[in-house]
Amino acid sequence: MPHLTAVLSGAEIHKKVKALGNRISVDYGGQELIVVGVLKGAFIFLADLVRELTIPVQIDFVQLASYGSDTSSSGCVTISKELELDIASRHVLVVEDIVDSGLTIAYLSTYLKKFGPASVKVCVFINKTERRQVDVLLDYVGHTVKGGFLVGYGLDYNGNYRALPGVYHLKV
Ligand code: 5GP
Ligand code: MG
Repeated sequence: MPHLTAVLSGAEIHKKVKALGNRISVDYGGQELIVVGVLKGAFIFLADLVRELTIPVQIDFVQLASYGSDTSSSGCVTISKELELDIASRHVLVVEDIVDSGLTIAYLSTYLKKFGPASVKVCVFINKTERRQVDVLLDYVGHTVKGGFLVGYGLDYNGNYRALPGVYHLKV
């Protein structure tokens, strides 16, 4: 049986998401923002985050297919669901659940910049530092951990645990 250890409670998450929402709203100073969520993991974080924003926002999603193991990405990333909104000359904020090696975010930034946005920034709920392979700039970070495999609040293991309101460390 997999073993779950609490990392962040729902209440702690709420505080962090609220703080991120406030900072983002201030930084963009009333400018309209396109929030691009990375499916599937970011859907809960994105839903909470956009409701803390006080600036006008449009929402789109991309999905990536990464050919790796269950617990790490291989860096071989392709787009499995394309962007639908036109982001040319628009301010884009990528919303991602967790950054580990950094390969996914690096790939996605390059993909998005091809459409000629005014800016691309990254907001990640969890920054996992131990296995970083590429130096990616994370503009907004909810929580930082060194390592381990996390589930809950959108994060899955084999499709399970996404709906847990807190974040947990999973030991298989
Ligand atoms: P990266 O490309 O930065 O190595 O990995 C990013 C993706 O790997 C995340 O979007 C997520 O899908 C997956 N990932 C990395 N670390 C974890 C983790 O601790 N838990 C879960 N559930 N997924 C992870
Ligand atoms: Mg993901």
